[in-house]
Amino acid sequence: MTAPAAIACALHPQRPAAGRCERCGRGFCRECLTPHAGRLACAACLRELAGPAAAPARAPGLPSGLAALLGLILLWSVYAGLGWGLARLPSDGHSDVPTPVHGSRP
Ligand SMILES: [Zn+2]
Ligand SMILES: [Zn+2]
Repeated sequence: MTAPAAIACALHPQRPAAGRCERCGRGFCRECLTPHAGRLACAACLRELAGPAAAPARAPGLPSGLAALLGLILLWSVYAGLGWGLARLPSDGHSDVPTPVHGSRP
C-alpha cells in the first residue's frame, strides 16, 4: 500500500496543504489560508467570520407599513395644520365689523 500522501488543499488538489483551517478543520494551501484573529481560516470561514460583523446585513430601513403610516401621519398633520389655519383665518381681527363711514350717508 502506498503511504498516505500529504493532505492536499481542499480547493487546490494539486497543492499540498500548508495548514488547516482552525474552524472547519480542512486542509488548505498557503494561498487559501488567511490568518484571522491569530488563527488560520479558509476563505469560506473567513467570509462567515467577517461577514455579519464587518458589513451590515441590510440598510436600516423602515418597513413599508410603518413608512406608509408615517406618511399618513405627515399628510394628516399637514392637512390638520392647513385646516386649523383656514379655520382660524376668519376669526382673526375684526373682519366682521364694517369699515367706519365718516357720516357720508346718502
Ligand atoms: Zn474553514
Ligand atoms: Zn488552496
